[in-house]
Amino acid sequence: ERTSTPVLELRDLAVHFGGVRAVDGVSMKLMPGLIYGIIGPNGSGKSTLLGAITRLTRMTRGELLFDGASYAHVPPSRLARLRVARTFQMVRLLPDLNVRANIQIGADSRTTSDDRTGSRPSWFERLRGPAVSPAVVDAIRRTRLGGFESYYPSELSYGTQRRVEVARALAMDPRLLLLDEPTAGMNQSERAEISGLLRDLRDEGLTQLLVEHDVQMMMDTCDYVFAMNSGQLIAEGEPGEVVRNPAVQEAYLGR
Ligand code: ADP
Ligand code: MG
Repeated sequence: ERTSTPVLELRDLAVHFGGVRAVDGVSMKLMPGLIYGIIGPNGSGKSTLLGAITRLTRMTRGELLFDGASYAHVPPSRLARLRVARTFQMVRLLPDLNVRANIQIGADSRTTSDDRTGSRPSWFERLRGPAVSPAVVDAIRRTRLGGFESYYPSELSYGTQRRVEVARALAMDPRLLLLDEPTAGMNQSERAEISGLLRDLRDEGLTQLLVEHDVQMMMDTCDYVFAMNSGQLIAEGEPGEVVRNPAVQEAYLGR
């Protein structure tokens, strides 16, 4: 049945680095239009899991399905066509490009050279400079970055830089957005702002998977949470339920 097909499904996914079982048999299903969270102590395999989902990290075993179809062998360079976008744990904006140009990179990553055949820029387009895609204008609007288009990353607060990263990912017009600790290093009001932004995107129908350290942020933002420890899932469910789980308390909250 169409409505019960997960956007993303992992079956028994494992990533081993030599003897280190960074991810060790994880299965999950992400249904459309919800915000999913992953919590877990440092080194529990959260970032490695995102790496495997985006095909940047080689998996040891398991199956990856997007809209019910396996993509375990699709090269990462073609992932944008699957419309999976991610932001990284560290800010990765290009310092020499302004906000608009950084976001344009996301839009450009959707089109490969073979998609562009027959549409070489005219002399007028070359004179005017690269066109601003509608996807970029839209991403700027959705992340409320209007007015910052000409700023360079170093001129922006940390929270605003992270918003530019979300905008760059949105410019890919993703069906699934993966976010690795998007509020790390933010103050309370910047966190609340990102949380509100992610919920707005959820209400527009965007499925998200969010690695989050801050328990309050996770409780405020996520519809459903997975808890990891030592590469394995130890609990899943509604955020409040997972936080109260004794195994999670012991592994993550140190109580
Ligand atoms: P988290 O994001 O939950 O903090 P990571 O996924 O970064 O955890 O790391 C999980 C485990 O895998 C850690 O023990 C880490 O040292 C190890 N690890 C991560 N990446 C590599 C790598 N490229 N090579 C070897 N070990 C790695
Ligand atoms: Mg990490």
